[in-house]
Amino acid sequence: MKQATLTSLNDSRMLDRLLQVESTLKNLLKFLATHDVPALPRLFRNWLDQNWSLEKLFEMTQLSVEGKYQARNFSEMELDIATVVYELGGGATLYALQKSPFAFPSRNTLAKRRREYQLRISIGEPRMQDILHNIEVMFKTTQPEHRRCGITLSMDEIASDGRLCYLTATDEIAGVCEHAKRDSVKMGTDLEIVRAVREAIRDGKIHVGQEVFVAAFARNDDVDYGARPVLLMPTCKQGSFRDSALLIEKLRQAWEMSLYGEALHGSIWSIASDGDPKRRPALYLHCMAHKLTAADALHQHLGNLPGLNLFTGSGGMTQDLDVKHDLKRICKTICAREGILINGTTINKSLLGSWLERLSDVDWSENSIYALLNPASSIVEAIHALLDPKDPQDVPRAIKLLRVTADLRGIDNSDLNPSEYSTHRAFSLLGELLEALVEPFINPEFTLSQQITSLVKFAHIACALFLKHGGAFLPQHLYGDLQCMVRTAIFRVAHTKLLDPNSKSFCVCLVMMYLRCYLGGYE
Ligand SMILES: [Zn+2]
Repeated sequence: MKQATLTSLNDSRMLDRLLQVESTLKNLLKFLATHDVPALPRLFRNWLDQNWSLEKLFEMTQLSVEGKYQARNFSEMELDIATVVYELGGGATLYALQKSPFAFPSRNTLAKRRREYQLRISIGEPRMQDILHNIEVMFKTTQPEHRRCGITLSMDEIASDGRLCYLTATDEIAGVCEHAKRDSVKMGTDLEIVRAVREAIRDGKIHVGQEVFVAAFARNDDVDYGARPVLLMPTCKQGSFRDSALLIEKLRQAWEMSLYGEALHGSIWSIASDGDPKRRPALYLHCMAHKLTAADALHQHLGNLPGLNLFTGSGGMTQDLDVKHDLKRICKTICAREGILINGTTINKSLLGSWLERLSDVDWSENSIYALLNPASSIVEAIHALLDPKDPQDVPRAIKLLRVTADLRGIDNSDLNPSEYSTHRAFSLLGELLEALVEPFINPEFTLSQQITSLVKFAHIACALFLKHGGAFLPQHLYGDLQCMVRTAIFRVAHTKLLDPNSKSFCVCLVMMYLRCYLGGYE
């Protein structure tokens, strides 16, 4: 009798429990059917992995909807998809999806996982040991087919948030400019240093870096050629050209000194930069130090080229002003009111705009998302978009403008009046000049000889026009930068001939510049 009562009691409890489970399950399903639950697959994975009860799953699902809980047990696939989204769509797209019911991982979560190398950020004045450390980290491992080749040292600034942060590993305040002393940013155990840094910034003795100066070495080879950063330095950009020259010297010496630098990969052939006005004189100091003589190995290939500037730095080093910056600056010059002077004709935005309307057989469409969403209703608008770009850093747009300007040569000139005829002659000369400059970088069919011949043609036409018109043709700095870029291409061929005449990089060296130039628009 007692046994029967106990069995009945157990059955009744089990029934209660089953009814409770059924009710929770119904409530859960109803909740799922009526709410967008963030990270739902992850919640279910947690239910299984962490042995949650059904009630706990329901509770966490509700908390997830209220934004009080986020399941972070991302699967490999979710992390991979988020990486692709970030690469293709950028930070804003990833942020939008992070806040959506898909609850994508944040940029910080991805950054930790994607960080392949632990680089040291410079705090205050860059230290030799930091650069040497970074060279070792970036250049220690080599590919099986590794060989020594020519190296390019590249420098540029990237935008940053302009704020300070704390590095737990070294107990330092990072983000101050190069004017800070390293020992003055160690936090220690009290707030003394924070107050001192605040005072120094208020007094203008040191600054919060608004940009990050990045120096990178790149191999001129057909494999393993990406630029790898070795110096990351927040900067206020208030230094002089002498500071810039000293920094280049430090980088050069670090490369020479490191076991994983020149000894393993090869010597520096060129120093590349954007058109930074303080870096330009520093480059001249480094790369115009002495004139090649017959005793120099490079002289046998370069000594007899008429008009070539034979002044170089140590080891035949030359300065290379990045072509994609140069092309943007040419567009900017043509589109300014003063324009450029060619044989008595001033070519500026309004003249160019009116002549571009005469071109037929030009595909004015662009393939950017903006253009697809806002199809230009007329050729005039398309021309206006080229001459007045929304983004002046858009390199493919700059290349397109230079190419269509070059196309003006092909206009039928039989019906032109004398004034138009002389303008057309000026456009034709400009077209020859621009085509000779741009084609080597965008035409993959070009052989190395064609690339060099074309660049030399550009250099000669530009020289003749600069001798005639001076700064009215092109600003002195832009003209000099363009000639430096051509010169470096010629020197690079001579360097490669000396290093290994059969090297494949012999043919690749300029194509790499083309890649850099063309991909620049998508950075
Ligand atoms: Zn500063």
